[in-house]
Amino acid sequence: MAGKDSNIHCSFCGRDKQDTVVLIAGIQGHICEQCIQQAYRIVKEEQDAKKNSSISSALSLLKPIEIKKALDEYVIGQDTAKKVLSVAVYNHYKRIAQKPARKNAEEIEIEKSNIVLVGETGTGKTLLARTIAKLLNVPFCIADATVLTEAGYVGEDVESILVRLLQSADYDVTAAERGIVFIDEIDKIARKSDNPSITRDVSGEGVQQALLKLLEGSVVNVPPQGGRKHPEQKMIQVNTKNILFICGGAFDGIDKKIARRLQSQTIGYTASTENNEIDKDNYLQYIVPQDLKAFGLIPELIGRLPVLTHLDPLDRAALRSILTEPKNALMKQYVRLFEMDNVKLTFDPEVLDHIVDKAMEYKLGARGLRSICEAIMVDAMFDIPSDGSVKRLNITLEYAREKLSKAKIEKLRVA
Ligand code: ADP
Repeated sequence: MAGKDSNIHCSFCGRDKQDTVVLIAGIQGHICEQCIQQAYRIVKEEQDAKKNSSISSALSLLKPIEIKKALDEYVIGQDTAKKVLSVAVYNHYKRIAQKPARKNAEEIEIEKSNIVLVGETGTGKTLLARTIAKLLNVPFCIADATVLTEAGYVGEDVESILVRLLQSADYDVTAAERGIVFIDEIDKIARKSDNPSITRDVSGEGVQQALLKLLEGSVVNVPPQGGRKHPEQKMIQVNTKNILFICGGAFDGIDKKIARRLQSQTIGYTASTENNEIDKDNYLQYIVPQDLKAFGLIPELIGRLPVLTHLDPLDRAALRSILTEPKNALMKQYVRLFEMDNVKLTFDPEVLDHIVDKAMEYKLGARGLRSICEAIMVDAMFDIPSDGSVKRLNITLEYAREKLSKAKIEKLRVA
């Protein structure tokens, strides 16, 4: 028997059976575990190269200016954020597509450009991140920082973020590893007090610490079904090195910290010309990483989020544009919905102004535009599909006012 076994060897590397852990038989020969592993590496490299080349070709079409133009189609205003985001995203994917340096050539490692977007709620932070992901055709997920806790405590571990990304990539790990994660409400995990950790701060600093390894790039064991309910499930390893993290937060009250910093910086300039140029209506535009630290983010976390930009509050004109201008603007959606029932829907311009007025009056922001529109349109959307005789519907100011008065607008306020 021994003699027969000693004739068997790996058809790829020639190793004898006794030198291998396993030798798998095929129709024509055998393959040992080392050759399988090597073949797997080659296949994976080829697959990755293919995916990189598709990202490279997307990049060759989408330079920062084109990325911004595409964002303009969906997001109103926010020019600074769009510009900063376009550059950061472009550089991030250039970094991924970069070919490994040739031997002996000097390796210049391009660092990751994770991003923080600071701006009031409902100003377009999530919309920007979502639009970028759609543009690049990469997996995208939204995680809420407020539900995260330090491992071992009640709540979700930070790894749960990657479960969602995996799900959005249909469990294609390689695709997920190039995806975009939007972490919302990052400001809610700020340190509660300036005094670092007398008592444990499991939902604040502890989570910030836990996020560090995710943001900087490391191999993370992800339970594919999430949670701790399935302790038997096999972990999936996800490398976060090339995942782009975009964090968003309103950072309520940070404008006061920025104002204070600007003031203390300008003390001493008697002429104080710089001070005069400060736009006191919008302090966010002067935000620097130091302000995030003053707000309670730990320096290590700030260091891993090197790109910082702000979103402007939406004024009346911006809200008015949001109603009609984006590619999938609310009004266009209603027109399309009625078109499907062969009804031509139009709005008197005063109706749009009235919707904006109400959104401003009740501080509903962009998110509230939709609830106001729904309140105006719901009766028509209920009755008209069953009434084949209606071919045109024009919404007048009087009609809109009447529907809104019934809707108790205070209830439309979004939390
Ligand atoms: P945030 O993440 O800043 O809280 P979102 O991006 O979720 O806000 O915005 C909520 C909704 O309001 C979006 O889905 C979109 O319909 C609308 N919206 C907000 N800001 C803008 C904007 N700048 N341009 C177009 N639509 C916007």
